[in-house]
Amino acid sequence: MLDEDVSTSIQRHVLRSVSSQEEFPRIQQPKNAEDYLLRLQADAINSHTRVHRVMLRRAHLRGSATLLFDEHSSDFTEYLSYLPEYERLLCEDTPRRYILTNNYDAMCLNTDFGKVIIVSEVLRYFLYFMNLATLKLGDVPEDVRQSALIIAVRSLLLNEALDFDMDPRGMVPADIDAQINEMVKWQMKFIIGHEYAHHILHHDSGANLCISRRQRFSDEDISEFIGYSRQHSQEFEADLHSISVVEDGPTQFGLFVGGTSFLLALYVFEALANEIDPRFAEINTHPHTATRIQKLFEAFPDELVFFGEDNQGVMEYYDSLVDFLIASYRNHPKLFTFYGSVYLGQWRGRILTDRKDF
Ligand SMILES: [Zn+2]
Repeated sequence: MLDEDVSTSIQRHVLRSVSSQEEFPRIQQPKNAEDYLLRLQADAINSHTRVHRVMLRRAHLRGSATLLFDEHSSDFTEYLSYLPEYERLLCEDTPRRYILTNNYDAMCLNTDFGKVIIVSEVLRYFLYFMNLATLKLGDVPEDVRQSALIIAVRSLLLNEALDFDMDPRGMVPADIDAQINEMVKWQMKFIIGHEYAHHILHHDSGANLCISRRQRFSDEDISEFIGYSRQHSQEFEADLHSISVVEDGPTQFGLFVGGTSFLLALYVFEALANEIDPRFAEINTHPHTATRIQKLFEAFPDELVFFGEDNQGVMEYYDSLVDFLIASYRNHPKLFTFYGSVYLGQWRGRILTDRKDF
């Protein structure tokens, strides 16, 4: 054990190294929910070397002194701008932030300082590669799609190294990259809207705060997760509210497409996660994803045009992806659980070496 003075001084040094002069006292002794969120981000950066390297690189590129920055905060501000005035006023003061961390959740948490919304950047990576694998985006070779699917699932299983900024796994043509990122934004805005819906609809009042052990699907670590065990009906309500609260037609359509495509991606992920470890189903806090998809299909029949006439065909397509993943897993039992990086087949490009090229 370290002498307490020494450990305090190490902690002070570590916190100082990731923050600006103004932020340092705030994360050292958080006094409000905003400070608390900054501290969460500082702790996430300091507990993972790769996350630290990514955030340091981003700070260099921005020319800024602090590592405590949210590159995707516009997802929140854009969603808030879609809300009618009453709902917007309810939500806009709730501190929110993306955090790059070895966790895959989006949550609306009650802390000692008040409510905060935290969204893991891992969800963005998961959706980026899922979109590359599944969307009609022009000419994407089959081996690239299959590799992207594997990277997506590995990301959410937390076994893919979180260093995509430095080692993007391959060269995605700029026009395809732009289309994917546009879709990721709609998907994330749906997820953000789902979290705001829990807040707007007062879903937290009767919920039980529970601590569950979530298997990370890696050999060593079982991380502890604190979240709310909500009623399934509240999850359906939050899904619908995220879209229906918005009045503008085209924006609703974007959120519907984002929401359903996110849930379809999650459906594929969960099917494989259950195959790897059946305990996954027991600790999953949300209701069955296929039912969530069906509820959205039923609630917004006019928006279904995105999937063509036959939404049964949609489920068949995603089931075929599940079959591919399960077959790959049975052929290579370690494919989804080894820690490291998978590359985009023929789009891989020049092979980058860790600590030499980035
Ligand atoms: Zn929820």
